[in-house]
Amino acid sequence: MASQDPVSPSHATFDLFVHAQSCKEVKHHFAELCMQLDINPEDFRTFYIKLKERLNYWKAKALWTKLDKRASHADYQQGKACTKNKCLVLGAGPCGLRTAIELSLLGAQVVVLEKREAFTRNNVLHLWPYTICDLRGLGAKKFYGKFCTGSLDHISIRQLQLVLLKVSLLLGVEVHTGVEFQGLIEPSGDNGWMAKLQPGSHPASTFQFDVFISAGGGRFVPDGFKHKELRGKLAIGITANFINRNTAAEAQVAEISGVARIYNQKFFQDLLTETGIDLENIVYYKDATHYFVMTAKKKSLLKKGVIKQDYSDAEKLLAPANVDYEALYSFAHDAAYFSTGGKLPDLQFVENQPGRPDAAMFDFTCMHRAENASLVRERRGKKLLMALVGDCLVEPFWPLGTGIARGFLAAFDTAWMVRSWGMGVPHLKVVAERESVYQLLSQTTPENTSKNYAGYSIDPKTRYQRVNLSSIHSNQVRTVILYLLNREFKSDKKQRDKWSHMRQDSIGGFEELLKWCQNHTADYTNVNVKDFTQSWRSGLALCALIHHFRPKLIDMSSLDESSAVHNNQLAFSILEKELGIPPVMSASDLANSGQIDKLSMVSYLTQVQKAFAVPTK
Ligand code: FAD
Repeated sequence: MASQDPVSPSHATFDLFVHAQSCKEVKHHFAELCMQLDINPEDFRTFYIKLKERLNYWKAKALWTKLDKRASHADYQQGKACTKNKCLVLGAGPCGLRTAIELSLLGAQVVVLEKREAFTRNNVLHLWPYTICDLRGLGAKKFYGKFCTGSLDHISIRQLQLVLLKVSLLLGVEVHTGVEFQGLIEPSGDNGWMAKLQPGSHPASTFQFDVFISAGGGRFVPDGFKHKELRGKLAIGITANFINRNTAAEAQVAEISGVARIYNQKFFQDLLTETGIDLENIVYYKDATHYFVMTAKKKSLLKKGVIKQDYSDAEKLLAPANVDYEALYSFAHDAAYFSTGGKLPDLQFVENQPGRPDAAMFDFTCMHRAENASLVRERRGKKLLMALVGDCLVEPFWPLGTGIARGFLAAFDTAWMVRSWGMGVPHLKVVAERESVYQLLSQTTPENTSKNYAGYSIDPKTRYQRVNLSSIHSNQVRTVILYLLNREFKSDKKQRDKWSHMRQDSIGGFEELLKWCQNHTADYTNVNVKDFTQSWRSGLALCALIHHFRPKLIDMSSLDESSAVHNNQLAFSILEKELGIPPVMSASDLANSGQIDKLSMVSYLTQVQKAFAVPTK
């Protein structure tokens, strides 16, 4: 036996836990470790401390050093910021688990529910530099030696889930797999908020909580939240995973970190000429698999027989019955072969289920985004803080790698909100702050977020370059909160009238702002402010506001109502440069009538109002 091999059974079990490659194995070795060390994982408050005391193993110590460093951050107040809070997290995807870790560091009791039994997604996620730094700080390299070695900046979804599952368990998070969340159960009698689960007899169904985080992915939106759809031009994504045998020849093949049609016309033309495959872009990552993601043109998919019949409705077009899967596999194979210059001659699909090649086709045409990131519900005097994180908050455009980057940012922001909640900040303020930060999320890029990755914490100020925690006021979010309460009292007319009356009052926050905008734009041609959406589309209203307060900054006579994108861009640039207010949407989103987000606009105009209220020197 080598001198450094583990000598005690718990050391050997710890090694098995650290290197486990499936969710089942992780949970099995974890349970074994707890038994051997005689620690009850349900004692979440003392679990990690006891584990450190009882597992006196050098390999474990290296990991404790990392976790202790994170846990010692002042934001967590020595794990006491949220000791009274009980949090239910829906979904053990990367974002649900990342949030769970932060909540446990804050001292909350955390229960995660996951409907799947296994982590099987081979697809590969692009990581922004800060996420690499963050995951290293949690010991990712100890769990997965190959994590982002050299210039690698990606990881498969399943591998990332495994890393985060292991960290969660070590920190005392309770993770249940094979259990489906089916809805919230309102407080009754002495019981607080609980969850309806399948199977109904699951032990977690008795868990009572005051914080509910939905990280259910994709379009999973719990009651009370609204999603809006951002419809772009038809975009069909194809993902494919091929076996990586890790040979020297395979190692030589260069990755394609993203090649888009506009940057390499010749490549796409050659691909079309030689194979009949017409793509908008393609990405290739060499990870546990050879992973390809591409956006394909409909015409070419029809011509190659991948899509059987043409429909204008994207859902109908990509319905499984309208897809010839054998043709899809050939399409993905040929695109992968061509784009790697034939240097991967033996491309064999990984099987995601027996006999089924790991290739899929997705519709990117519609992206969903939640209108708000948080809510408070109150029933029988028991408040519940609800929040969305990850893909169910903002659906990412995968080729840009925004899924994990923005997903983790939202996980940190949510933890910051739960911290305020735990520390007794009034609930309207808690939600207002969260919504203020949420306005920034869709604009974030690696360039406009802080480069001091080591300094990132759950405090938004450490990550966003310019953040205003009160760009949305408490009285503005009250409308949303009361709306929710109102719906719940549908059957009780007396209550309904009372709430509806209060709701009318609470709309004051918006009305005052609207009046202010109307007063200061009343005299301008082609400007008629009636709301927070359509009235701002042409950009003239924003330009008029600027002109009213600072006439020297803008020449209104040079503007044309039909050049909406130009007008919006001009107004955004002036407001950012002169008043330091970053835009909360793109000029074209604002110009496109379907894509104006009311709360974003309210947040933006509130900042404009505040800035103009300061007299110029
Ligand atoms: P997810 O990873 O989707 O996790 C949500 C979890 O919630 C899932 O494990 C789900 O089983 C669970 N869940 C849902 N409903 C319930 C319920 N009612 N009860 C209990 N559990 C529930 N990104 C890329 O960058 N590249 C890709 O190629 C890529 N491919 C993808 C392929 C698929 C099939 C999917 C679903 C997503 C893909 N993504 C890809 C997106 C990427 O996976 C996400 O951005 C990332 O995983 C972060 O997601 P999340 O944690 O918010 O949600």
